[in-house]
Amino acid sequence: MSPGIEGKVAIVTGGGSGIGREIALRLADAGARVAVCDVAEEPAKAVAVEIAGKGGKAKAYAVDVSDFEAVQKVCAQIAEDLGGTHILVNNAGITRDGLLLRMSEDDFDKVIAVNLKGAFNFTKGCARTMMKARWGRIVNIASVVGQMGNAGQANYASSKAGLIGLTKSVARELASRNITVNAVAPGFIETAMTRKLDDATREAYSSAIPLKRFGTPADVAEACLFLASESSAYITGQTVRVDGGMLM
Ligand code: NAP
Repeated sequence: MSPGIEGKVAIVTGGGSGIGREIALRLADAGARVAVCDVAEEPAKAVAVEIAGKGGKAKAYAVDVSDFEAVQKVCAQIAEDLGGTHILVNNAGITRDGLLLRMSEDDFDKVIAVNLKGAFNFTKGCARTMMKARWGRIVNIASVVGQMGNAGQANYASSKAGLIGLTKSVARELASRNITVNAVAPGFIETAMTRKLDDATREAYSSAIPLKRFGTPADVAEACLFLASESSAYITGQTVRVDGGMLM
């Protein structure tokens, strides 16, 4: 069990699948009451039921992270339903890949709205409650491409680089209230997002990773659990890469 997590209320956005689902399960295993948030209700509910089936506590919420007003409402609702908010994991994310010359304005705007503004919306929705409690953990799921750049992902890489800037700025603002804000930057992780890659591309990416494999959602969830726990109390404003050594 990770110290300082038992009984805490944790929000995980995009918690209905992939990395978010694994983070929700691990936080619940560690004793947190988890608000599983996703744009669609069914996947979020399925994860909440899975947690309850293992004896944990969770509740599902359907919300589009890019909708500012809806997010403020859901944050207030979660605090009321579960008794506060101590841990926020901004995990929801999308891709709309394409080379710059072919990328539409909508492809750019949509990715920024979900990946970057979504994290801003939830951070705004939870910050006051955490400040009052004088304890908080915010973990933003970025990406190594936010640090490296990636051809075909100008929108996605911009959103993830922005998320790292958001992490550092909010870390500075909230530190005096005992709230830490960190980012986790995964490399290639086995989820629906990377299942779209063809075999040749997967092979090329894997061979460029020193650990010679894609990561698992559990690899990311472990780092997240640490940053959400009391064990990481003196770490803030950092980006922890979980990428098999892809970027050093
Ligand atoms: P995923 O399996 O597609 O999960 C993302 C979740 O976010 C899905 O449940 C998705 O719902 C949800 N979501 C999408 N738009 C949303 C919105 N507007 N509001 C609320 N929820 C929304 O992807 P993943 O691979 O687990 O990715 C999780 C995070 O890790 C993302 O931020 C991603 O950028 C980051 N990441 C992933 C990798 C990787 O290799 N997989 C690498 C680096 C970073 P729907 O399925 O209904 O759209």
